[in-house]
Amino acid sequence: MKGLSISFFGGVGTVTGSKYLIKTPTRSLLVDCGMFQGLKTLRDLNWSPLPFKPSELDALILTHAHIDHSGYLPRLVKQGYKGPVYCSSGTAQLLEILLPDAGRLQEEDAEHRNLHGLTHHTPALPLYTEQDAYKALRLLQPLSIDNESVHLFGASKARFMNAGHIIGSRFVQVTIEEKDMHPCTILFSGDIGQYDRAILPDPVSPPPCDYLLVESTYGNRLHGSEPPETALKNIILSAVKRGGPVLIPAFAVDRTQEILYLLRELEDSKSIPVLPVFIDSPMAAAATEVYTRLKSEQDERYRKLTNAGRNPLSTRNLTIARTREESKRINDHRGPKIVISAAGMMTGGRVLHHAERILPDPTAAIVFVGYQAEGTTGRLIRDGASEVPIYKTSVPVRCHVEAVEGLSSHADWKDTLRWLSNMRRRPRLTFVTHGEPESAQALKRHLETEFHWEAAVPAYGDRFELDGTGEHQAHA
Ligand SMILES: [Zn+2]
Repeated sequence: MKGLSISFFGGVGTVTGSKYLIKTPTRSLLVDCGMFQGLKTLRDLNWSPLPFKPSELDALILTHAHIDHSGYLPRLVKQGYKGPVYCSSGTAQLLEILLPDAGRLQEEDAEHRNLHGLTHHTPALPLYTEQDAYKALRLLQPLSIDNESVHLFGASKARFMNAGHIIGSRFVQVTIEEKDMHPCTILFSGDIGQYDRAILPDPVSPPPCDYLLVESTYGNRLHGSEPPETALKNIILSAVKRGGPVLIPAFAVDRTQEILYLLRELEDSKSIPVLPVFIDSPMAAAATEVYTRLKSEQDERYRKLTNAGRNPLSTRNLTIARTREESKRINDHRGPKIVISAAGMMTGGRVLHHAERILPDPTAAIVFVGYQAEGTTGRLIRDGASEVPIYKTSVPVRCHVEAVEGLSSHADWKDTLRWLSNMRRRPRLTFVTHGEPESAQALKRHLETEFHWEAAVPAYGDRFELDGTGEHQAHA
């Protein structure tokens, strides 16, 4: 098709900020609308003017609710986007929890900067507010459970398929079709999940396409071979022997639910004794409700347990702390217990007030179950710091510091190839996205050597002309 192109405005050279712009001579579509996170040079991009006009976009598609794929949406709406936002209904339900929270955090951060003179701009402003987030949520057009196809504009359409990454996550086949032109299909992987994970089904096999965008978060890494439940079991049994508590900092969406599921499995198989388990995060409580409610997103084993009258996300002695008072009451509980609390990298949140008590306790254990970015308190502890600053005081670390590897919501590179091996025909060109430069290059090499596919690693701002074959139309 003449005049059809794709441009990359995020999610290249990094795992954050995903934004892919499809343009035809008359229309434009954005796939994912992620916030940049991590390094300051990346975060500054959230403040740069967009290379396109949000008010001129015809449609927006979100693959899933993670902030690095959705968190820029309120800002996009603030800058004039008024069109539909298509996503799965699971994604919409998680966004209702995540986006207002992101807005609130930005407001608090701006306030903090102004209060302590930590800003070059006066006054510091939030990227968007909680109110902006609510405004953006009104544009969501969640797809119904049985109809995962949507008409975009003209004869163009999109089909959403389960990516097994978090609840509601989808990969999306977009078919661009205009008069007298060959239709062109582009497949956006979003984030692809690991096979054989708790709760979620395996990613659906991808249909053929003219062009493919594939994520490469783990393009150069493989998940370990020790099952995470074995590692978790051993850590808990040692803590029980010492009579000490276990603190698990965990991201409120997905990781908390996965840990709960594993703890319940360990209890059911009598691999660990029944212990008091506390979930201390209002966001985790809300996300757990979404995970429990969305039956169509659960795998077969999950459903079997539910049918047998068991709640797969509930241990036998579980307390969910929503209010501050409920949170404080957890401290009164002496002896072995398991506390799961956010933020997962200990950058803030209630986990800090538990850490204050647990870190100096030699009988206790802190267990990391996710990636700890440089500069976070979690990373300091993982790297063996003997004391860490919490609420401006220095807290000694005398507890056991443990980590459970392999609990990732991303496919490693072998799983990614396994997923793609189901594609019946090779794409004309594959764009390797959503990875640090080494990961993206490694996945490109894997695709070239194992599949003999032509692959490119785009950079920020790169634009490619696309040309359809008309061979892979969506069955919408
Ligand atoms: Zn994700």
